[in-house]
Amino acid sequence: MEEREHLVEELNQLRKENSELRRRVTELTDFIENAAIPLHWVDKNGIVVWANQAELDALGYTADEYIGSSIASYHADADVIGDILTRLTNNETLNNYPARLRHKDGTIRHVLISSNVLRENGEFVHTRCFTKDITAMVEEEQRRSELMRKLEESEARLRQAIEAIKLGTWDWDTQTGEMYLSTECRRILGLSGLEAISVEEFLAQVHTDDRSRLESEVNRLMQGTSSNQFDVSYRFRRLDDGELRWLRTQGTLFVDDENRPDRFAGTMLDVTDARMADEKDARLVAIIESSNDAIVGKTLQGCVTSWNPAAQHIFGFTEEEMVGQSIVKIIPDDRVEEESFILSRLGAGENIAHFETKRQRKDGRLIDVSLTISPIRDSAGRIIGASKIARDITEKKLEEQRKNDFVAMVSHEMKTPLTSILLYTQLLMKNARKNEDRTGLQMGSRMEAHIKKMILMVQDYLSLARIEEGKIELRQERFDLCPLLEEIVQDAQLLSARHRITLTGCNMISLFGDRDKIGQVLINLVNNAIKYSPSGGSIHIECELRDGAVRIAVRDEGIGISEVDQKKLFQRFYRVTNEKVRNIAGFGIGLYLVAEILRYHGSAIEVESREGEGSTFSFELQLAS
Ligand code: ADP
Repeated sequence: MEEREHLVEELNQLRKENSELRRRVTELTDFIENAAIPLHWVDKNGIVVWANQAELDALGYTADEYIGSSIASYHADADVIGDILTRLTNNETLNNYPARLRHKDGTIRHVLISSNVLRENGEFVHTRCFTKDITAMVEEEQRRSELMRKLEESEARLRQAIEAIKLGTWDWDTQTGEMYLSTECRRILGLSGLEAISVEEFLAQVHTDDRSRLESEVNRLMQGTSSNQFDVSYRFRRLDDGELRWLRTQGTLFVDDENRPDRFAGTMLDVTDARMADEKDARLVAIIESSNDAIVGKTLQGCVTSWNPAAQHIFGFTEEEMVGQSIVKIIPDDRVEEESFILSRLGAGENIAHFETKRQRKDGRLIDVSLTISPIRDSAGRIIGASKIARDITEKKLEEQRKNDFVAMVSHEMKTPLTSILLYTQLLMKNARKNEDRTGLQMGSRMEAHIKKMILMVQDYLSLARIEEGKIELRQERFDLCPLLEEIVQDAQLLSARHRITLTGCNMISLFGDRDKIGQVLINLVNNAIKYSPSGGSIHIECELRDGAVRIAVRDEGIGISEVDQKKLFQRFYRVTNEKVRNIAGFGIGLYLVAEILRYHGSAIEVESREGEGSTFSFELQLAS
């Protein structure tokens, strides 16, 4: 009986202990299941066999999805989970092993894993893993290092920029009076070593004209009444070499909590070169602005980029009306072609000097201008535009016109009396011949030759005036060349006994042209041959027939013409200037007329010459059919 009671008591005790144990297991299970730390177990094949709610929440899966799947599939790095499983199998305990897990939504979670294996009788039962999510911390760390990297980068860039522009920096503690100067700043001031410089010493180097301005700016800043920004340019006598330099100092004044000046810091730049360049620019601008000639800049497309006051005065258009517009605005309709010609020459890098042409004013009036045009190049030497200087030569042209008119008028008035003198001379000669008055005849011939020379001069002037007015007219007819040449040779021979003039191959040639003007050409050539052979010699006039035309050449044994001069001989008013021709008078219009008259006849004058040996002038004319 006693024993039974004892058993019952023992049973009751066991029941009590059992229910107590069950209560504690339930509590413990609940504690683990709902713990804030993610926990899971993995079997020896790497399959998840259990996970608590925190673990499921952390990765976003349901228990059904998670439990029974391979733990490796949640790891972002295959080698990491491989290593973890190997270590655990080898009985290691992992403590805060870093890994990256993949959340169901695709994002990466950074975690630290602590784990070891539960074994029973040496058999692998499962792992016990604690996972600590440190994603927020890792991301914060990454963000911070990215920021640091960017900061370092921009600091390096700033430093490079400061070095590149030779910018000095300085920092002045206004309370202790301590001054920090960067290396560049020291270089600018001419401080060779690391020696300090006091404010007084600094001011002593500032040019007296600038010192008070600098001081009053500093005082203004210190009083703190206006802006805290400082920007002053002043001349400073550099400490090492005593050179006077223009410096620009910019800075900001910082104040402490009680609004007292605390730090004054900023930059310093040597701006001497820039200022010199500015001054030079300013001087050039002043010259352009005050010039009497129009100075115009334009692009290679002819778009106006600058227009000075003289341009406005000469052409009547204001700067606003022209800049950005085409230069064609001032070119008369019949000269628009000129512009493309000018631009193409500029494009090839050529200069154009004293090109005389006409331009049209805003009021429509045409003016005479002389243009000098040069290419504008960029720093790499590429042609990017043109600068044009235009001088108004309308007055000069008018003056020239008046002079020409005067000479033409005088020449015209002289033509009639000269012609009658020639006529009377010829009559006198006729009488002398009849009376066999040999002296009279001889003197008459001389007079005749000289009068003809004067008539030629008058004729040349009148022809010149007509050509300039574009009024030259040819009176073309059929004529025999031989009598014309014989007459010319006879007259010329009378003018000079020292020259022997011969005619070869000029018989029986009929030409079609203006007899008087061809005569003028030949007389000019023969007279020149005499004039430019001061020591005498032979002058040969040779005719050579070649299919349908005759080539007429006038050859002398005179002083000859240099190659340079040969190119310019036929320009209006061109005369050679050297020792040999110093005493030979002339106007430089003879050969110009020769060239022009032949041009009107569809022909051209050619020259062959060697200095000291002689010259040959020749041209071709069509035979009369
Ligand atoms: P001008 O004789 O009045 O100076 P031209 O027009 O007839 O003017 O001639 C122009 C220049 O050409 C002359 O100044 C002279 O130097 C040169 N010239 C012309 N003809 C000859 C020649 N036959 N021999 C040498 N030089 C000549």
